[in-house]
Amino acid sequence: MTSAHRIITPESVLPGAAPCGHIIRGKTVPAASGKTFSTVNPANGREIARLAEGSAEDVDRAVAAARAAFAGPWSRWTPTQRQALLGRVAALVDERFEELALLETLDMGAPLTRTRMLKEPIRQMIMFFAAQALNVKGETLQSSLPLSVQAMTFKAPVGVVAGIIPWNGPLISQWWVLGGVLATGCTAVMKPAEDASLSVLRIVELLHEAGMPEGVVNVVTGFGHVAGEALARHSGVDRVAFTGSTETGRKIIQASAVGMKKLQLELGGKSPDIVFADADLDKAVPGAAMGVFNNSGQVCYAGTRLFVQRSIQHEFVERLKAFTATVKVGDGLDPTVQLGPLISQKQLDRVTGYVGDAPSEGARLVAGGQRPGGDLANGFFFTPTIFADVSNSMRIAQEEIFGPVISVIPFDDADDALRMANDIDYGLGGAVWTRDVSTMFKMVNGIRSGTVWVNCYGAVDPAVGFGGIKNSGYGVKGGAEHLDLYLYRKAVYINLG
Ligand code: ADP
Repeated sequence: MTSAHRIITPESVLPGAAPCGHIIRGKTVPAASGKTFSTVNPANGREIARLAEGSAEDVDRAVAAARAAFAGPWSRWTPTQRQALLGRVAALVDERFEELALLETLDMGAPLTRTRMLKEPIRQMIMFFAAQALNVKGETLQSSLPLSVQAMTFKAPVGVVAGIIPWNGPLISQWWVLGGVLATGCTAVMKPAEDASLSVLRIVELLHEAGMPEGVVNVVTGFGHVAGEALARHSGVDRVAFTGSTETGRKIIQASAVGMKKLQLELGGKSPDIVFADADLDKAVPGAAMGVFNNSGQVCYAGTRLFVQRSIQHEFVERLKAFTATVKVGDGLDPTVQLGPLISQKQLDRVTGYVGDAPSEGARLVAGGQRPGGDLANGFFFTPTIFADVSNSMRIAQEEIFGPVISVIPFDDADDALRMANDIDYGLGGAVWTRDVSTMFKMVNGIRSGTVWVNCYGAVDPAVGFGGIKNSGYGVKGGAEHLDLYLYRKAVYINLG
């Protein structure tokens, strides 16, 4: 029966009363310790599932399964067969999308209006990686060796990849790892975030349904400092793809010294979004607002430092405030809600702390700044918040809050804006709103970050790629370079003499 004929309810998509296991060697298995932990719906704080609490022993088993699969029949799959597997899973994801979107909403809080919209981007991402399966190229090279020796390079899959991913959108973000793994013939152990693991477990089930051999992708659920740490350090892992906080990224770098693992790290951000007085404010106001509020501010490239040219500051802040009043916050199951809750009490405490401290540094609260009450009081909700009169040196302007909080910082001219935009430890995203071509190029060239948007915010395409500099990490997701993380270069000399 296809999902079109099935009645889809929260009860029908959630795993039910029995604890979820890890997925190792194609089987769902309990934690070696037998321990489980609770995962809740952030919209109401109620438990929705119990998950296996992974330990070093579970990680050992999963890595052994991935190593065995790497050496097994999977290594004889042709690129075309792997491409076809990606095609089959894309079709399954498409068919089950309503269930997947609902599961993600229940697990990490993003409203259905957002999770449903991911259908096409996810399909495009899987198809991008399917195309990459046939896009792995070596070279034949001229050399100074005798003519009888032909030199060439091959590209070979690295082996076992650890995919350590965050909670802010696993339904889509897991594909950055799965796509590279399946396109190249690597194998993987995925460690989803403890607060949002369900869509990763479900997708890996679908991969098996699509015909992926057992052990090619395994999942260990559990806590970062235990299961994540053991995985990042494991000598049987060849590469780590990590998305998460800068602090955890540093730990991953240290752990990667074991085995000299190559890393792809997408870490925190505090991106500048620069609005000039000549910008089309009808577009810039909602664009800049949603460039922060989307996913309740839980987006690493959110444009949280909103630089506004001083001459339009007053008008801009008033319009931003009016727009923010129209943004609907609530339980994501309501199809009119635009912003759901934050992921957890921990995240709510973090956002509340920053917002509470900001006025003492001189920031002026213009909108939001509190938790909504009523029906939403039991969830981890926070109202979209604007601070004006912020200076770039304040804590709310320098530290990643990861909540729906905009800091409006006035600037005088392009040089002033650029100086402040780059006065930050991060370098993930950035944007400029202007109608002037020379201003635009000055900003595009001057902003030190992995992505710059012009008169828009947040577009990301798998074919183009995305990455950061400075404390935002290194290594690209998407684009032609993506597969390099999953491949190594092998020089080959063939003596034909
Ligand atoms: P946050 O603090 O926002 O939860 P993290 O960077 O800690 O972000 O989490 C991102 C992912 O990294 C999660 O899957 C988490 O379990 C994992 N993680 C956390 N700490 C570690 C660690 N020390 N080693 C490896 N993975 C970790």
